Amino acid sequence: MDKPILDSSIEYLKGVGPSRAKLLKEELAIHTFRDLLLQYPFRYVDKTVFHRIRDLTPDSGEVQLHGILRRLETLGGGRKKRLVGRFRDDSGVIELIWFKGAHWIQNSLQVGKEYIIYGRVNAFGHKLSIPHPEIEEPKKEKQAPAATFAPVYPSTEKLNAKGLDVKVRRRMMQALFQKVKPTDIPENLPEYLVERMRLPKRFDAMRAIHFPRNQAELDKAINRLKFEELFFLQLRLLQLKSRRQRAVAGYTFEKVGDSFHQYYKEKIPFELTGAQKRVIKEIRYDMGSGRQMNRLLQGDVGSGKTMVGLMCMLIAIDNGYQTAMMAPTEILAQQHFQSISEYLEDMDLRTGFLSGSVKGKKRRELLEDLAAGKIDILIGTHALIEDPVVFKNLGLAITDEQHRFGVKQRAKLWKKSKPYPPHVLVMTATPIPRTLAMTLYGDLDVSVIDELPPGRKPVTTQHRTEAHRMRVIGFMREEIAKGRQVYVVYPLIEESEKLDLQNLDEGYEALSREFPRPEYQISIVHGRMKTADKEFEMQRFVKGETQIMVATTVIEVGVNVPNASVMVIENTERFGLSQLHQLRGRVGRGAEQSYCILLTGNKLSNEGRERIQTMVKTNNGFEIAEADLRLRGPGNIDGTQQSGILNLRLADLALDGRILQTARELAARILEKDPDLTHPANANTKRFLDQHGPQLKGWSRIS
Ligand code: ADP
Ligand code: MG
Repeated sequence: MDKPILDSSIEYLKGVGPSRAKLLKEELAIHTFRDLLLQYPFRYVDKTVFHRIRDLTPDSGEVQLHGILRRLETLGGGRKKRLVGRFRDDSGVIELIWFKGAHWIQNSLQVGKEYIIYGRVNAFGHKLSIPHPEIEEPKKEKQAPAATFAPVYPSTEKLNAKGLDVKVRRRMMQALFQKVKPTDIPENLPEYLVERMRLPKRFDAMRAIHFPRNQAELDKAINRLKFEELFFLQLRLLQLKSRRQRAVAGYTFEKVGDSFHQYYKEKIPFELTGAQKRVIKEIRYDMGSGRQMNRLLQGDVGSGKTMVGLMCMLIAIDNGYQTAMMAPTEILAQQHFQSISEYLEDMDLRTGFLSGSVKGKKRRELLEDLAAGKIDILIGTHALIEDPVVFKNLGLAITDEQHRFGVKQRAKLWKKSKPYPPHVLVMTATPIPRTLAMTLYGDLDVSVIDELPPGRKPVTTQHRTEAHRMRVIGFMREEIAKGRQVYVVYPLIEESEKLDLQNLDEGYEALSREFPRPEYQISIVHGRMKTADKEFEMQRFVKGETQIMVATTVIEVGVNVPNASVMVIENTERFGLSQLHQLRGRVGRGAEQSYCILLTGNKLSNEGRERIQTMVKTNNGFEIAEADLRLRGPGNIDGTQQSGILNLRLADLALDGRILQTARELAARILEKDPDLTHPANANTKRFLDQHGPQLKGWSRIS
């Protein structure tokens, strides 16, 4: 078979040639016809309307004018050098200005000639001008324009300066579509799907996205191409998932046994929420299915994930297996150990703790007991997956705060158990938007606790600036007088760690003046302290010996002090949304009304303002995660780099949730009937998948 025409070098497209090809490669990574085709316009200009110069105002925005070029001259010198033209229609005159590419413009335009120009009106004082307009000669006959919406492509200064401007790009696209035939851009979705969903054919959609005749046609084309992207992404993810399910057998936990029942009937200190019950059921079913479980458990701060984890561990233990729970920090691990030991008081179960700080004889004994199967539940830090740690039969491993565990560390877990890998439950309090979870963890099962235990009072959140500082201090005093405790948190960003510490120290000193000893006691904790010192200071606060905890974000995860009712965040604008949400989750854990005060300077970026407004508006972690995704884009959310979702050209996970949902459902339905896509009706889809997969790494299978 001949080489597909789309693989031809861009050099051979009419009007390109070697030097333009070189530019296109260097500036836009366009090497082939296909690359050109797949660089979609980022906007369109409406060429159906003409404006009159007299009617223009500073707010006119983008306009199209028809008139005569009256003068063209170079003004100013040095950096102010510019090319200025006067453009006249029958209602008035306006200036056209070029700061770059003057030479090329001057050679291509002719004074006294009729042109159609297109550009954005700029106002300098009263004077209006149009910088860097697009210029065309009017069509000879009054024929209908080929495209009423003209495409605008991503470009660079260098390309524009070398004359490879938007007009040339459009001409290249036109040349491309004169060359390629519908068979060169074959349908890649199953025909029956295209028909049933009334999608435009792939070729038609491609042509329409570059040269739409009207808005409706453009919308349909974009919708189809987005669907296509998401459909193939989901096909790949779901195939990975079903392969994993077929391939990896797991321990079958057949029964829910004595300790589970005993605990549930006699010991459990509260009624489980509906969401907790549902999730425990999902996990129980999974662990009883004969295949290895890989499940992500999402639940907001305080939603009661620990108890869910514990109940699942009891199921594993009842089936004769050991269990492990890992946390990313010593403090968090200790806290899990404490709460689980408390939950399990008087039960005949053996619990162990392991971290780097457990040494010598104690460690040796622990490891021996573990290997001998004398320990049912091992709780700890990364130390738990180091090589010398040998389990007798690890059946279930739980990791908390998934995003802090590296992929490699999780992979080690798999090796801790024979003949099957342990069931894995990953718990995270960083909610991931549903659209993203579906994609990012498309090959994982996801459970969600979407309900908080009853009786929680939502934290009241307020935004305050420097001007309010004294009032904030007064408020802290009132709360402390009621017997409550207060966190004051400073940002810590690695590049400027020194500066941050200085902030922290100064803040601490200022607070010490406002809250003098001996009436008040203040703890201080930051990342540079020795673990033991940190621990000591934390404990003072936990025990209520200090009323204020000044800290960097080391307290972000884990610490549980129900008596703390105020969270003051300094330089809030420097924190990301998910971090702020985590921090706020430190308060509101007791019965009292709690408060989160977001301090900022007076000046805020738009994005910073929106982050703060989001925090003030909602306590719902999923809403916050959605906002985070919208503000920062998927590229900045943990895990996305590995997932292949950044290869999406058109679809936007923050906005296209509905299309994604449909794509996922249809992909799942197709794979259910035809897992390897061997049916003739799916042949073109399989071919496309084989030829063009950005290879997805099945990274989450080792979560
Ligand atoms: P997280 O999901 O943030 O890990 P935890 O498991 O630490 O939440 O639970 C937060 C607090 O809520 C703990 O003090 C826990 O004992 C309590 N809790 C959990 N589930 C319930 C429930 N169903 N009813 C009442 N309190 C609960
Ligand atoms: Mg927790």
